[in-house]
Amino acid sequence: MAAKTAAESGLNVVLLEKRQEIGEPIRCAEGVSIRSELRELIKVQPDWISTEVNGVRMYSPNGDNVFTTVDSRKDEGGYILERKIFDRGLALQAAYAGAKVLVKTRAIGLIRKNSLYAVSAICRGEPLQIEAPLIIGADGVESKVARWAGIGTRLKPEDIMVCAEYQVLDDSIDQEYCEFFFGNGIAPGGYVWIFPKGGRLANVGIGIQGSQSGSGEPVRLLERFLQSKMPHARILQMVAGGIPTSGPMNNTTSDGVMLVGDAAHQSDPLTGGGIINAMKAGIMAGETAGKAVSSGDVSTAALKEYEDRWRSSIGKQIERRYHAKNFFLKLTDDDLNHLAKSLHGKDLSRMNARDLLSFLFKQNPKMLWRLVF
Ligand SMILES: Cc1cc2nc3c(=O)[nH]c(=O)nc-3n(C[C@H](O)[C@H](O)[C@H](O)COP(=O)(O)OP(=O)(O)OC[C@H]3O[C@@H](n4cnc5c(N)ncnc54)[C@H](O)[C@@H]3O)c2cc1C
Repeated sequence: MAAKTAAESGLNVVLLEKRQEIGEPIRCAEGVSIRSELRELIKVQPDWISTEVNGVRMYSPNGDNVFTTVDSRKDEGGYILERKIFDRGLALQAAYAGAKVLVKTRAIGLIRKNSLYAVSAICRGEPLQIEAPLIIGADGVESKVARWAGIGTRLKPEDIMVCAEYQVLDDSIDQEYCEFFFGNGIAPGGYVWIFPKGGRLANVGIGIQGSQSGSGEPVRLLERFLQSKMPHARILQMVAGGIPTSGPMNNTTSDGVMLVGDAAHQSDPLTGGGIINAMKAGIMAGETAGKAVSSGDVSTAALKEYEDRWRSSIGKQIERRYHAKNFFLKLTDDDLNHLAKSLHGKDLSRMNARDLLSFLFKQNPKMLWRLVF
């Protein structure tokens, strides 16, 4: 999105991707919770979508379940994407806008030369140097661009969600809803998800808090979950990865450099979802790049527009979600079961997450105040 937007603003853009195929290997459950949020950012192509879901179903540790639609304000469910095709589709949009796309091209260093950056890369086995006044680091959670630019992105173990995921084939998968399973025995500091993919397929994954994750722990817990919930599932693909859940970083720009997406820790600290925020930030960074490069001023001061824009929009939500995450981490399984019980018999079908939280507060004021203070 950053490359597409910068190219649309008339800049000469080169997009470097270290993999030989954009979008592979997938490190994602591919869910976008509100369909219109994606449609507002880009014209959605039918082959980007695996399936559409009506909402989410959440399970408390003892198996009681809470049923809710995704968002009552917009009254719609979500998409489960086909990310291999979706990511490639976004790169194609950038190419249509005029960006040069170089696959199998790994950036390996960044040196400031007067007013330009020299990017060193290995392009299909050959060394390559590219000079540019401005670099947008959209290189994911392990961002090297951030490090080269001297921007601190180190994550504390409690601020990273460690994930493992299988794509499975099983008859028991509900293709209409995304399902979430909570409990410290199931996924300490996180949750297990089942995101349907159509055709009896689903992405079944687990995210647990880094500080509670020993080596191999996510895979062990995921296997245990599969054994108990869908013992006959056939596993077709495995994915592992980390998601930043740190809340907004102090700084995402420096002279001639902007960070976006997971590189800038812009994913939702509560759910780990990062696709929509990364796309929004990419557009903002691309627009700021257009103005800064055209005006000949790519200083940190000139890039502040990007910093201010993302902080006052998605940044505010990320901040709130970070506090919500820290609050939920204090809940024991008994607390979660108690909260779920207080919802029995209530019609939650029109409630979004915010309505649900305020309802829970009204039903359980003593317990929730104890956890807040
Ligand atoms: C298991 C798992 C499940 C997830 N599920 C969801 C979900 O259901 N919904 C959701 O919204 N989010 C989900 N996320 C988070 C989501 O995948 C990320 O937030 C999102 O992909 C961030 O996009 P990005 O462009 O910032 O980074 P990435 O998608 O990580 O892209 C970074 C790109 O940079 C390339 N790159 C890195 N270094 C270099 C280099 N040196 N040179 C050239 N290229 C380089 C990489 O190859 C990659 O293509 C999940 C994450 C994980 C790990």
